Amino acid sequence: MSTKDCPFCALRPEEIFLSNDLCQARWDSNPVNEGHVLIVPIRHFADYFDATDDEKRSLWEMLEKAKKLVAHKYKPDGFNIGVNVGEIAGQSVFHVHIHLIPRYKGDVPDPKGGVRGVLPHKRKY
Ligand SMILES: [Zn+2]
Repeated sequence: MSTKDCPFCALRPEEIFLSNDLCQARWDSNPVNEGHVLIVPIRHFADYFDATDDEKRSLWEMLEKAKKLVAHKYKPDGFNIGVNVGEIAGQSVFHVHIHLIPRYKGDVPDPKGGVRGVLPHKRKY
């Protein structure tokens, strides 16, 4: 995926609600829950582990700011945080992004295991 057809390199100011020199917080255009946020580096690269130390610091600081904003606006009961690294792990947009997914009581019948659910048969233990 080149920057030309990358949705996170495209300028969509309506989706971006926080930004600095290194990263942005954007509303997910196809949210799994109300307040689903993506924390995205400005630089186009696919693999989270290729981020510079400054980018990593900036991404996690932005996550904290976005979390406060989402908590205030939507009053969720919890959060999941996740990064898909590689097609086998489910990555579909090959520009790094951290998902911040607000969770609400009753949004699934049994949330136990949370992000362990990426392997549904191993979610519960
Ligand atoms: Zn990109």
